Amino acid sequence: MRIILIIIIDIDIRKSERKMKYSKQREIIMNKLREFRVHPSAEQLYLKLLEDGENIGLATVYRNLNYLAEAGVIKRFQTFEKSERFDGTISPHHHFLCKKCGKIFDLPKEIAEQVVQNINDKGFKTLNYEIMSEGLCTKCQKEGEK
Ligand SMILES: [Zn+2]
Ligand SMILES: [Zn+2]
Repeated sequence: MRIILIIIIDIDIRKSERKMKYSKQREIIMNKLREFRVHPSAEQLYLKLLEDGENIGLATVYRNLNYLAEAGVIKRFQTFEKSERFDGTISPHHHFLCKKCGKIFDLPKEIAEQVVQNINDKGFKTLNYEIMSEGLCTKCQKEGEK
């Protein structure tokens, strides 16, 4: 398992959803992202939309996800392999990426308190942080035993 610590200083989380005008497609894309909680890539979300009967082109999905990410309504981040993933939850939390099934799971904010304490003990003042750990999820570990 690899752990990476990203320290982001002074992130602007006040950009609110209220300021934005949504197109219908954008709303569908955002709702699907919030419902499909594996932190999909644009392609994965596009396929999920298609599967659920929404005919929205990949380029549109991609463009709207980036727009929403830039507006601060959703979060965009990179995996260790540099693939781009999207998260409908912007409140602080951490992630676990399963190398086998590719799903990304949410981890509560509290899991990293000790890590931050250790950093601050070195004289730094951590303002913001995010942990991404990588390995095998519970389901994939079980499948590996068979
Ligand atoms: Zn897995
Ligand atoms: Zn998340």
